[in-house]
Amino acid sequence: MDQLDGVRLQPVPRVARRYWIERSCPRCHAAQGRDCVLAVGTDAGKVRRFPHDERLQPIVDERKAQQAARTQPEGKHSKPGQLLHEQVARRYWIKRNCPRCQAEAGSNCVKDAQTGTGVVSRIAHDERLEPILAERKAKAERQRLAPGACDIACPDCARLAGERCASPSGGVHRSRVEGAQKAGQEMLRSEPEPGPVD
Ligand SMILES: [Zn+2]
Ligand SMILES: [Zn+2]
Ligand SMILES: [Zn+2]
Repeated sequence: MDQLDGVRLQPVPRVARRYWIERSCPRCHAAQGRDCVLAVGTDAGKVRRFPHDERLQPIVDERKAQQAARTQPEGKHSKPGQLLHEQVARRYWIKRNCPRCQAEAGSNCVKDAQTGTGVVSRIAHDERLEPILAERKAKAERQRLAPGACDIACPDCARLAGERCASPSGGVHRSRVEGAQKAGQEMLRSEPEPGPVD
């Protein structure tokens, strides 16, 4: 079978020679800088026209991983392809003014920023929506970091962190919820302030 490899067309993963030649081949053990060789058959030891897939695969995998890492941060809080104005309801942005068209709180965005006239947009400018989304994101992050009620021991029923309260209703004791909130606030306070300290 391996003899056929020599006449095979371009293998599936497309990787330029300069990339794979820098690696050794796990299949035929061709060293760095050497071409792959046929492993078995009468032509064993002959140079293959194309490297083994096994030599290309890690390169392809790395590229995929890099690409995934690049595209990850976006779309974490928003569905892919969803526009900003689809993520923020009017009742939120209408309370603010628009830095783009200078529409004041309570008014819709306008097409012509210079004169403040023109067709009234039913959707707000992205510049008006972005701070709202940024605040939401910051809030979600704070909540993620703050301990939940069950992350601390209960002062009421003495259940340990991670355990449910022993209340008859199965709910969490009030003192435990308050304790967790206090711990969360202290955590925020202990965070270094980005601005100048007075
Ligand atoms: Zn090889
Ligand atoms: Zn606007
Ligand atoms: Zn409890």
